[in-house]
Amino acid sequence: SRVKEDGTDPVKNFEKWKKKYNKTKTRVKIERAKKKKPEWQVEKEYIERLMSRYEEINIKDAVKFSDFPLSKKTLLGLQEAQYRQPTEIQRQTIGFALRGRDVLGAAKTGSGKTLAFLIPVLECLFRQQWTSMDGLGALIISPTRELAYQTFEVLRKVGKNHEFSAGLIIGGKDLKSESERIHQTNIVICTPGRLLQHMDETATFHASDLHMLVLDEADRILDMGFADTLNAIVENLPKTRQTLLFSATQTKSVKDLARLSLKDPEYVWVHEKAKFSTPATLEQSYVVCELHQKVNMLFSFIRSHLKKKIIVFFACCKEVQYFFRAFCRLRPGIPVLALHGKQQQMKRVEVYNDFVKKQHAVLFATDIAARGLDFPAVNWVLQFNCPEDADTYIHRVGRTARYKDGGEALLLLLPSEEKSMVQLLQDKKVPINKIQVNPEKLQSVEQKLESFLAQEKEMKERAQRCFVSYLRSVYLMKNKQVFDVSKLQLHEYALSLGLAVAPRVRFLNKTLGQSKETQVQRSDEEEDEELRRFKQQLKGDVEENAKSESESSTDNEESDADLANNKIALGEVDGDDDLRDLDLLTLKCKDVFNLKERQEEEYHKEVKEKKKQSKETKYKEAKKVLKRNFQVNTKVTFSEEGEAVQLWPPVLRAVAGNDDDDDDASGINVEKAKERLKMEDQEFDKEEYRRKVKEKHRERQLGEKLDEVVAYLANESDNEFDPSTLPDPDKLDNSESGEGEDEEEEDMTKAEKRHLNSESESEEEEKSVSTKRLKVKQQAEEEDTVLDTGLSLAEDEELVLQLLSGRR
Ligand code: ADP
Ligand code: MG
Repeated sequence: SRVKEDGTDPVKNFEKWKKKYNKTKTRVKIERAKKKKPEWQVEKEYIERLMSRYEEINIKDAVKFSDFPLSKKTLLGLQEAQYRQPTEIQRQTIGFALRGRDVLGAAKTGSGKTLAFLIPVLECLFRQQWTSMDGLGALIISPTRELAYQTFEVLRKVGKNHEFSAGLIIGGKDLKSESERIHQTNIVICTPGRLLQHMDETATFHASDLHMLVLDEADRILDMGFADTLNAIVENLPKTRQTLLFSATQTKSVKDLARLSLKDPEYVWVHEKAKFSTPATLEQSYVVCELHQKVNMLFSFIRSHLKKKIIVFFACCKEVQYFFRAFCRLRPGIPVLALHGKQQQMKRVEVYNDFVKKQHAVLFATDIAARGLDFPAVNWVLQFNCPEDADTYIHRVGRTARYKDGGEALLLLLPSEEKSMVQLLQDKKVPINKIQVNPEKLQSVEQKLESFLAQEKEMKERAQRCFVSYLRSVYLMKNKQVFDVSKLQLHEYALSLGLAVAPRVRFLNKTLGQSKETQVQRSDEEEDEELRRFKQQLKGDVEENAKSESESSTDNEESDADLANNKIALGEVDGDDDLRDLDLLTLKCKDVFNLKERQEEEYHKEVKEKKKQSKETKYKEAKKVLKRNFQVNTKVTFSEEGEAVQLWPPVLRAVAGNDDDDDDASGINVEKAKERLKMEDQEFDKEEYRRKVKEKHRERQLGEKLDEVVAYLANESDNEFDPSTLPDPDKLDNSESGEGEDEEEEDMTKAEKRHLNSESESEEEEKSVSTKRLKVKQQAEEEDTVLDTGLSLAEDEELVLQLLSGRR
């Protein structure tokens, strides 16, 4: 019945047809399979197509990232991270970088320089079809650990569709576990010292295939502080690599560029023609105030900006440490945090993330937070101390007004700093307005501080160290026109910190009596005798303090954190009149402390008169004292209570009624001392001096705990994180005893660096090359002393991942 009338059998027909069809299909399949290219070849062709578009990149037409010949993986990563349109610096540099050119990129703070180098890094390795077996392909160097973390996080975000491995190589952890994986890491983000350590110590690590070197904050990486380390690193890198340098304050120094052997670099300065060098959305002002008014100013400022996110920059770690404690006690009604180079790594990361998350908070920081950090939604940058130079100023204020956000900045200047500093800023095209403060609107905290200090010896010691450290930082500043230590009103400043008298400093002949050791302190020839003596005094004082701290201090930063978290974070305020002034101080930028023109003038007249008066009396009194007590080269003034304070050479002590240090008070034979110093000068040339200082550092470091911790991350380890697997950070932090010694060591480094130009910038964790090498050796000798976080490698990774993911 299935046979049709014409005799055909449809079923048979179908079977026949099916057979034929299957045959053809198989043939086609086989042919296709024969033709089909391996995946790598498909990718290669894709890459070739992309690269063929490199030459046609038209900056003017590039509005979206997809207008650039970027790999799908990168484009997807950008899209997923909500980056759609390139910023100006990205638009202008990506093309050059893709074509393999060396690039010097300069653009204002917050303008997107990070992606301007991360995108080319990803594309470069993609072009090479790089795999983990190929080892190191790109190296990104950051000046601080925090910035390295941050860059790493951005890389993880935009690079997550690529298969490259990425590692964070910064100080702070166990070197060994890092060593085990570094040779399989394709993209390394690092701080200079730690990288060099691997180059020196890790046998499997080599950079011979490196394709791309990036220096973020290039001018900083290239400056004196990192000079030795960077030179040593560059020696280990192949010359054929591509080099990208980025900063808001770019170096143009031919010397620097020669050091990096750049090949005909493309210089891209996005805002070269811009009227100002700082973001247009940033409002900047400065206030002139006396040193002893600064604390009150800071407190009043914070009290009037409780619903803001503020970063306050200080000159040195000890200022941060003291003011952090003091302000926690003062309970300003807003969380107070502190970030500086003497904190343990765990603490640093914790504070960093805390500040990222908080909506309203004040972060007290040193310049480790000045560069590159992209804290979201910072409203204000307040500079408690005048920055070292205009570039530092630009980077500090650049922590606010990022990308398209607005922000405000306030700089506190001493009368003696105003003229020169404002000039420097103007030269660098920084638009800054002077504003006035009504002294009556300032809340004084002096008495409160005084009572804190009376209650707690440790607090008092911190105040003293803060005082001395600040003076030393001023003294060591290169720009003597801005920074003049002789103009500081020491006694008043001490009082404002809550101290009854200015801390004492061991005096000249005592220091000289220590013979050999003091010879190390010989300064550059061009410095006059008085400056040298001052330095010796300061140092003597610091050493003394270091001892007392290591003996007496059992406390550490952790208790600071408790204070901040438990008391301040609750927004508690002393139930007194603090709140009454609030309205008066909550004012718009231009008139931060609500001062009317008329009041300004009156205030200034008043101040001037006061100054005149005190000058006259000071002069008369000084004359008397000079006759009685001092022989030559001394300048003495009297405080209101009639206490004699020697201003020059600055003794940092009240002379009157304080005779327990009898050789301090009077009768130094300066001429004799001079002669002796001269003789010593002849014996020791500069090289010797350097050697001695280094030796001293080594000694100190031998006694110091190893605080290097390694953080290592591979791109793949994107797992979930269970915080309960972590040990108690409190316990970890408590393992850090002898904090004081560490601190002193770093301070010494800073002090000597300025004069030797051979040490790195104090508080970034990087030390000089030789120091690092010594440290490693020491580590080998005393393996037991390695300070580890106590975590396994996997836990470490998780910890870092968690900390990073908690950022936004
Ligand atoms: P810089 O290094 O120039 O100071 P960053 O690279 O830190 O600036 O970027 C500043 C901010 O701008 C960051 O928060 C970043 O996420 C954001 N940003 C950068 N590029 C873009 C872009 N193309 N689109 C949107 N936001 C961007
Ligand atoms: Mg940056």
